[in-house]
Amino acid sequence: MHSKVVIIGSGPAGLTAALYAARANLEPLVIRGLQPGGLIATTSEVENYPGFVDGIGGFELAENMEKQAQRFGAQFKDALVQSIDAAQQPFVLTTDGGEQITADTIIVSTGASPRKLGVPGEEKLANRGVSYCATCDGFFFRGKKVVVVGGGNSALDEGLFLTRYVDELYIVHRRDQLRADPILQERAFSNEKVRFIWDSTVEEIQGEEKVTGVTIKNLKTGEAQELPLDGVFPYIGHVPNTSLFQGLLELDESGYIVTDNRQRTNIAGIFAAGDVVDHVYRQAITAAGEGCRAAMEATWYLAEHEHAMKKAAEGETITPALGQW
Ligand code: NAP
Repeated sequence: MHSKVVIIGSGPAGLTAALYAARANLEPLVIRGLQPGGLIATTSEVENYPGFVDGIGGFELAENMEKQAQRFGAQFKDALVQSIDAAQQPFVLTTDGGEQITADTIIVSTGASPRKLGVPGEEKLANRGVSYCATCDGFFFRGKKVVVVGGGNSALDEGLFLTRYVDELYIVHRRDQLRADPILQERAFSNEKVRFIWDSTVEEIQGEEKVTGVTIKNLKTGEAQELPLDGVFPYIGHVPNTSLFQGLLELDESGYIVTDNRQRTNIAGIFAAGDVVDHVYRQAITAAGEGCRAAMEATWYLAEHEHAMKKAAEGETITPALGQW
């Protein structure tokens, strides 16, 4: 199987890249990856994506983006990329199913995953009371008591979503000031189901078959308290999904892919966009913008490449060397 543009990942960056590449008649192939639709598809309500006056569900937004790209000829595949051979053109990608796909260009939009607390009990009780997706699992906590960890937009947004179901919600934050936008802070402070536990971290999650409680430590006093409850929702940021690219693409000290201001990585023909690159803005709209830029760059790269190949076939010396522009 060969594609002029293979897009790895299907969040707003990948889906926007697919739309633009499809409209450039490049018939891109999107490899959906572990989380079809990306993190936005696990978000309850998106109120800051322009064009939706009353907001839109995250899943619906991602689904619409995919349908829009499909309308112009983008192809989709449910698979994970396990290795990339970029030593020659075309690049060779091998999927978890053992399939080999060749690509003239690659757009990496593998996003980022929720950061784990890294405390005892978290791994054992994952999906048994520990959840990283309030939208997916909130319903199972009807009438229950849960804790959200973190003080950013995700913690407050998803915490507020959980108050539709739960009776009591604690937000444990390591400082006494929130990072979240003022509008979300106001909503959380005025919600009678929400209680804040400041300057504190979750040290342990208890339970055998399911979560039964947590140990919370006050970082200022050193005091620990046990809190009986039913669910733990960590929202303490993200780590970029770049393990596949170690040793291949240039990564920064936090593991994000380094690009220039045209979404180009250190390998000509490989572009990157969205949360896998951006640890500053990390919005659906900025990811979509980067996806657009990456697809336009890939389109221009292919056009130049084609021209150079033609000239080379006619016996002309190519400057710069193939694969180096
Ligand atoms: P974030 O903004 O990086 O916030 C992470 C939070 O977790 C911070 O409050 C941080 O504390 C805390 N934290 C980090 N590591 C921790 C640890 N090891 N233990 C305990 N607490 C820890 O991440 P996010 O909330 O997931 O947001 C990511 C991006 O998505 C942001 O740009 C955000 O604006 C965006 N977003 C936007 C919306 C919206 O606009 N409605 C919704 C969701 C997300 P400190 O504050 O002390 O650093």
